[in-house]
Amino acid sequence: MSRFFSEKFTDLEAYVPGEQPKEQQYIKLNTNENAFPPHPAVAEAAEQAARKLHLYPDTECTELRKTLAERLGLSPDELIMVNGSDDILNFAFMAFCDSYIPAVFPDITYGFYSVFAKLNQVPYREIPLQEDLTVRVDDYLQAAGTIFLANPNAPTGIALSRKEIRKILEENPYNVVVVDEAYVDFGAESCIPLIREYDNLLVTQTFSKSRSLAGGRLGYGAANPDIIQDLNTIRNSTNPYNIDTMTQAAGTACLKNDEYNEKNCRTIIRTREKTAKELRKLGFEVTQSSANFLFAKHPVISGEELYRKLKERGILIRHFNADRIKDYNRITIGTDEQMEAVVKETEKIINGR
Ligand code: PMP
Repeated sequence: MSRFFSEKFTDLEAYVPGEQPKEQQYIKLNTNENAFPPHPAVAEAAEQAARKLHLYPDTECTELRKTLAERLGLSPDELIMVNGSDDILNFAFMAFCDSYIPAVFPDITYGFYSVFAKLNQVPYREIPLQEDLTVRVDDYLQAAGTIFLANPNAPTGIALSRKEIRKILEENPYNVVVVDEAYVDFGAESCIPLIREYDNLLVTQTFSKSRSLAGGRLGYGAANPDIIQDLNTIRNSTNPYNIDTMTQAAGTACLKNDEYNEKNCRTIIRTREKTAKELRKLGFEVTQSSANFLFAKHPVISGEELYRKLKERGILIRHFNADRIKDYNRITIGTDEQMEAVVKETEKIINGR
């Protein structure tokens, strides 16, 4: 830290993303990337767009937003495009929280929420998940703050139904409810159909997971036009050029080939179910995941040991140190072959003890 760093940030602990190893080729199942590369039309579109890199990008993402609006059955003014959904989550903390309006989220959830709260000097309240790691809906009624719910939740993969989220929206007419649907396309119910009914709802989604575009950094928010306008005020006050020309073109091409993405999601869901079954056979307790990852613990081997031993064998998964979940690991669903390797090596590790 330099001697110039503002005092307000001296205690800030930055978010730590999953490892991105350069030194060795791993079977990389630690950051919930899609198992499949994007459709070939995506790279072609980005390459074409690269020829216009001497110009600033379209701040309105006109073509991309129009294409997405058509796909979702929404109007473009109900959408805002962002640089990965992390971008809009940060905007939501800036726009809808302050020293009087705290953020409210589960104790076990996406680790960036508490970092964004601290970054924006916003107080926050963590509500413990139940013993079985599910969200108790009744804990979020009249929450007296802006609610952030990852649905499916991360790293548990467990989803609430749309009906349960509707109850939270009904009971929080004076609070914004942000539903972070980063993983929704792997088997949960989206709340986007509710945005015209509830003016307190903001749904965030990303192209990073179900649309294979993590490297492109593209996400979006869906909400009523007034909420979108607030978020645009923040976006235009920080970086109106938050989505580059290549990513806008890539995103549009990606949406025009969305059947390809849907097919990949179906494959990943099948592989997830197969892998969960295999892990349960090995004695693992596996949560009911609606995401592109599994969250699992074993009665004999600790989460940390399994993480370390799989890494030695060239397989990278994600281990968290937080007390309540330190026995677990989060395993991204890769291809069938990759997951067969995970199961095989895990079995060897357990039998070798
Ligand atoms: N929400 C959740 C729950 C996530 O796990 C992630 C990915 N780390 C994000 C949002 C952000 O993803 P991105 O910025 O790539 O859209």
